[in-house]
Amino acid sequence: MIKKVHHVAIAVKNMDEALKLYEDIFGIKPSKIETVPQQGVKAALLPMSEGGEIELLEPIDQESGVAKFIESRGEGIHHICLEVENVDQELCMLADKGVQLIDKQGRTGLAGKIGFLHPKSTKGVLIELVQKDIKEKG
Ligand code: ZN
Repeated sequence: MIKKVHHVAIAVKNMDEALKLYEDIFGIKPSKIETVPQQGVKAALLPMSEGGEIELLEPIDQESGVAKFIESRGEGIHHICLEVENVDQELCMLADKGVQLIDKQGRTGLAGKIGFLHPKSTKGVLIELVQKDIKEKG
């Protein structure tokens, strides 16, 4: 079951400039900034006051998916993330329905346990599923 839109991710060339922009125009400060070497990105989470987040992604490795995304499409919306109760269960159900998956099983991401669907199966939109960390619940 899909619970809600957890975050929208935006690919940016320069994290510091993007963070300054969001602070200047909306007064939003990041709750978390982390380098994720496996994905070749630096990521920042910008929380909204009543839930939902914007995730900023800056490539730190020119071979990363985000670097290639910016190269071909420019800066902009990279993926949307939907919160689910159980990532592994959801991925398994989607695979049964013939949906192409990037991750066949959940893995650890910035926002919790995550898994990506292939945009070929979702009208060109990269969709991430997340199951929030148990410690963040309640
Ligand atoms: Zn994300």
